[in-house]
Amino acid sequence: MCEACNQKAEILTREGESRRSFLGGTAAMATAPLAAAALSSEAKAQEAASPLGASNVQSWAAFDTSGSFAPHTIPRRAAGPKDVVVEILYSSICHSDIHTYKGDWGMPTFPLVPGHEMVGRVTGVGAEVTKFREGDIAGVGTMVDSCGECANCLADREQNCLNGTTFTYNSPDKISGGVTYGGYSKKIVVKEDFALRIPPGVDLAGFAPLLCAGITTFSPLNHWDLQPGQRYGVIGMGGLGHLAVKLAAAKGAEVVVFTTSKDKLEDAKSFGASEAYLWSDEDAMRRQMGSFDLMLSTVPVAYPMQPFLNMLKLDKTLVNVGALFPIEGAHGMMMGFGRQSLAGSMTGGIAETQRVIDFAAHHGIAATYEMITPDQIGAACEKVVRKQARYRYVIDMTKA
Ligand SMILES: [Zn+2]
Ligand SMILES: [Zn+2]
Repeated sequence: MCEACNQKAEILTREGESRRSFLGGTAAMATAPLAAAALSSEAKAQEAASPLGASNVQSWAAFDTSGSFAPHTIPRRAAGPKDVVVEILYSSICHSDIHTYKGDWGMPTFPLVPGHEMVGRVTGVGAEVTKFREGDIAGVGTMVDSCGECANCLADREQNCLNGTTFTYNSPDKISGGVTYGGYSKKIVVKEDFALRIPPGVDLAGFAPLLCAGITTFSPLNHWDLQPGQRYGVIGMGGLGHLAVKLAAAKGAEVVVFTTSKDKLEDAKSFGASEAYLWSDEDAMRRQMGSFDLMLSTVPVAYPMQPFLNMLKLDKTLVNVGALFPIEGAHGMMMGFGRQSLAGSMTGGIAETQRVIDFAAHHGIAATYEMITPDQIGAACEKVVRKQARYRYVIDMTKA
């Protein structure tokens, strides 16, 4: 947006605000529909000024590793012919956001605007966009670009792009330069190929966490081909784990949860688990030996995994999607005895992400969440670390 347009938008916004406060304070209810119509046309005039232009956008950023967040203005590029502009409505907090600002995976580029689970309204489409129209609801997940030409991209594995996936935040931005900024912001401009369709009628805030936690826990079910009736262990039940339970239960698996939080035992059953145990319950842990067809570890920190590997049947697999650190406590002899596998998996491709969204809509699944405002991001992150989230914090970005 050029300087003149910026000024015009600012004036329109101020007029809109003063009119809103006037009507809110003094006008009779009967005038409200008229006011709404007037505001709506003003808003449309603003959008019409330059819905596809480059803009400065309000975001919430971390400036260091302390976990404090503050308002920060970021640039968003002008939308190209294959780009969509998404006004972000809801953005949820993933533990990866916390690992990133803490520097657990290497020092990030500050200011850092995290967020790779977002849902919003399409407010602009490039001339060649076919998947979206203005007014549609779109989601953006963990990545915003890849080469589209390498073997992995051609196999719908954009997250494994051999030429370097562009992740949604703190990733080198090949289009605009600098680094990418995520969903703790009011707006994002993204290639339509990396935006997901959100079906009408779903809980939009509850769907935001599907964009990372949902696909991360859905993809292993497909790759390791979990069948109805098979026994599936979910280790750790936070943001990822609670969706793992809901998704696997909807596929007809017999889901068993292992948690360190006593109050989550009943929640696990309400999400569809048939059994739930505390790690500290040694008798229960012993009884699970050799009983699982597949297990998923969603715990975000490293811990000794051999006790859980021992719970697998012969030749079966424990998939780690949580602790992206050196693995602890896997014993070569014991894994060899049962020919068990310990595997890794991270997010999923765009096509598979669309599948989990459609699957969740079909089965009436969404994340269980608590809504927060942007000024509560830092406090919410602390609660995630203290295992107090039940089960995702969703930021209402309309309050930014
Ligand atoms: Zn994530
Ligand atoms: Zn590629």
